[in-house]
Amino acid sequence: MPKANLYLMKVGKNNPRDVQEPPAYEKIFQARDGGYRWGIMTTNGSESLNAVFKESRTLPVAAVVEDTFYKLNTWFQERRAKAAELIKMNQSFSTRVEEKLRKHRNKGATMTVIPMGNDGTEFEVHNPNEYVPSSRRPDGTMEFVKRAFKYVVQFREAREVTCTCQGPQLTQIPCSHVMAVCRVRNFCEDHYVADMYRTDYLASTWGGSFHSYPNQHEWPAYVGDRILPSEGWIRKGRRRHKRAIMTMDEMGGRRPSGNQARRSVSDRRRAGR
Ligand SMILES: [Zn+2]
Repeated sequence: MPKANLYLMKVGKNNPRDVQEPPAYEKIFQARDGGYRWGIMTTNGSESLNAVFKESRTLPVAAVVEDTFYKLNTWFQERRAKAAELIKMNQSFSTRVEEKLRKHRNKGATMTVIPMGNDGTEFEVHNPNEYVPSSRRPDGTMEFVKRAFKYVVQFREAREVTCTCQGPQLTQIPCSHVMAVCRVRNFCEDHYVADMYRTDYLASTWGGSFHSYPNQHEWPAYVGDRILPSEGWIRKGRRRHKRAIMTMDEMGGRRPSGNQARRSVSDRRRAGR
């Protein structure tokens, strides 16, 4: 217990007198998973599914399950076909990643590389035209100026590479600085892209399949308890929507969509307005 206490007291704080402490950026910004921050790929997953199921959420349970089943089937069919097409075209990585690699390669083409250290794993990359934040404007946005800026790229064991821009650590895609080193040193760029972006990984992600189930009247009879809603839950009339219309919905010409808009029209009609 005292050990855990001590750990919690120290974690996330940089103590310059502690020689065994990892560098501050790793402690504070990298969420203590060795700098990879796996979560960055997944943080918004549930949010985007909420948007997908926004319409079907108002349906009865069986219909929600059915809707989800058919939606997933379509997704798997489409995405599997897309992945197979990419593999057929001999594309190594997903289109989004290929596009990023192309951009980083172009950006890195104008940078200069200076080898550091003595084992060929450390490089200083100079960008003559980096946009660096200089001051804050009165409206709160940042003012940027073009000036020379340098980054440190380090090739570690196996396929691990780090850069002081934090790009490769966060996304596991080589940044423009790593690309600059690869160009000068003839290193293989693809070697430093994580496997999860490969097209064959994409194909196996969507490799599962769905199979048709019988019509409802062909299902075996249900034997078991009947579950009824409690009296307090039963309400008369149309299902209420919980979500209140907020300022955000009215901004930028966005109108409340679907059922909500229809309901408000019929409400108004009913009220004789
Ligand atoms: Zn970088």
